[in-house]
Amino acid sequence: MRVKERYGHIINWFSEHMPVAETELHYETPFGLLVAVMLSAQCTDKRVNMVTPQLLQDFPTPESMAASSPEVIFEYIKTVSYPNNKARHLVGMAQMLVKDFDSIVPDKVDELQKLPGVGRKTANVIASVVYDKPAMAVDTHVFRVSERLGLTTASKSPLQTERQLVKYIPEELIPKAHHWLILHGRYVCLARKPKCEICGLTAFCRYFAKKL
Ligand code: SF4
Repeated sequence: MRVKERYGHIINWFSEHMPVAETELHYETPFGLLVAVMLSAQCTDKRVNMVTPQLLQDFPTPESMAASSPEVIFEYIKTVSYPNNKARHLVGMAQMLVKDFDSIVPDKVDELQKLPGVGRKTANVIASVVYDKPAMAVDTHVFRVSERLGLTTASKSPLQTERQLVKYIPEELIPKAHHWLILHGRYVCLARKPKCEICGLTAFCRYFAKKL
């Protein structure tokens, strides 16, 4: 199957079967989502959703978090992975937002990446979810599912995957496609044992075709 054709089939399938695809992180403001995405690195959304309500109730703005300290923030987030580093990054991120960005979460990926603890994936999530920009965030699910389906070929890094995906996915669908691939990887195309028997994409999947 030609790559363009494969993209067409897969995009059609997701459009029909997963018309609504959104982040599973709970948030109310751009700042709240940035905090949640930073906390979600190597941690489940479920666990992050358990700590953000109290954290963001007590520190709802960049100013309030900037005036706090990593030691105080640590107490709120100690049940997520890497709480020491994340507490330090959250306070540093809030301080830079106040100092350099008028306390507004920027919409450009390169500006977002200047914030402490914000890598390309987090920056892309914020740009696409908050500002609806055609930024493809590649996490472990997107990386794996894209390669299995055959949307990417021999990708060696998240950046390579991102570049291959944005070449073929129409701009207006990129924010949604990110969630399609994450949710499919989280619930169907599992890392250790993909549930091909319940997957609707077998007819277009390179991995499945190879298994036959
Ligand atoms: S057919 Fe199997 S390997 Fe392919 S996307 Fe579906 S679950 Fe993943």
